[in-house]
Amino acid sequence: MSIEQALLQRSNSSCELCTNDLNLCVYAVPPVCEDSADKSVLLCDTCLSQIEAPETVDANHWRCLNDSMWSQVPVVQVMAWRMLTRLAGEGWPQDLLDILYLEEDVLAWAKLGIESDTDTDTDTDESSISDTPTLDSNGAVLQAGDTVTLIKDLDVKGAGFTAKRGTAVRNISLTSNPEHIEGRVNGVRIVLLTCYLKKSN
Ligand SMILES: [Zn+2]
Repeated sequence: MSIEQALLQRSNSSCELCTNDLNLCVYAVPPVCEDSADKSVLLCDTCLSQIEAPETVDANHWRCLNDSMWSQVPVVQVMAWRMLTRLAGEGWPQDLLDILYLEEDVLAWAKLGIESDTDTDTDTDESSISDTPTLDSNGAVLQAGDTVTLIKDLDVKGAGFTAKRGTAVRNISLTSNPEHIEGRVNGVRIVLLTCYLKKSN
């Protein structure tokens, strides 16, 4: 049975987050180490597009998590936890997170690749941002908040996916290393080499 067939069966042919039954596709939940139904969810295009482009998130759409977070399927729990965490600033998602209980290993999985507020990595310490300007592949100065575009496919170490050439990364942050910026790709905050980026206008 293919992954898609397995997911269609598991989900009763509906989006596993919002139960929409149109335009469903298989989403391999990052970090992707293996292609399997256990590591994938069936999503409608509304959920998928908002997961992949966090700046387009319509918080109200995600009220569906009120139901789907109680799924017995760990990978669905992981996606629900991540979206609730992303939206926690709205208030109600934090309330749901407070009552959502995940098994320890599921919670650890959910947290994989998610930005950590307690990150002590000196590269991300804002107080140590270098005076050397951060330049893109064309020599244009990059600033925090800029949008950049990837100019080649990049394997994201640790996260297990490939960031495709042409992917726009919005609202970047600078780091202490002028050759590195931070940005969010596939919902995962990663460090990118500036030589593989160009600034978008
Ligand atoms: Zn959906």
